[in-house]
Amino acid sequence: MSYDTSNVFARILRGELPCRKVYEDEWALAFEDINPAAPVHVLVIPKGAYVSLSDFSATAPEAAIAGFFRAVGKVAEELGVTANGYRVLANHGPDSHQEVPHFHVHILAGRKLGPMLAPQR
Ligand code: 5GP
Repeated sequence: MSYDTSNVFARILRGELPCRKVYEDEWALAFEDINPAAPVHVLVIPKGAYVSLSDFSATAPEAAIAGFFRAVGKVAEELGVTANGYRVLANHGPDSHQEVPHFHVHILAGRKLGPMLAPQR
């Protein structure tokens, strides 16, 4: 799948759409999810153009991968959620329900998050 430069996170990175920024460095931007699923729900995205985790892990330079995952840890630290705990989640592709085709991880926290997946219906 090729990268669609008109996806919403690409537009946020270019400053064309607003976001509630919580962290930014050379490698990553973190901002609040527009439709939070927990009291703390922050998205962390790399600054480069990667469709998903598979694309990022296969094609990003080592420094970008290290920089991104260090940023995820820093965001969790800055959000103050490391003591009580948090969940990091990344969706890839249709079965996962990935909606935005720019790689991102969700940081979820602020309440007991329960089992990892909802029971199958
Ligand atoms: P996915 O299902 O792709 O893993 O998650 C995409 C997430 O992006 C969803 O949780 C959705 O609420 C969030 N989202 C979609 N559009 C926007 C937007 O324009 N701004 C922000 N802050 N979040 C968005």
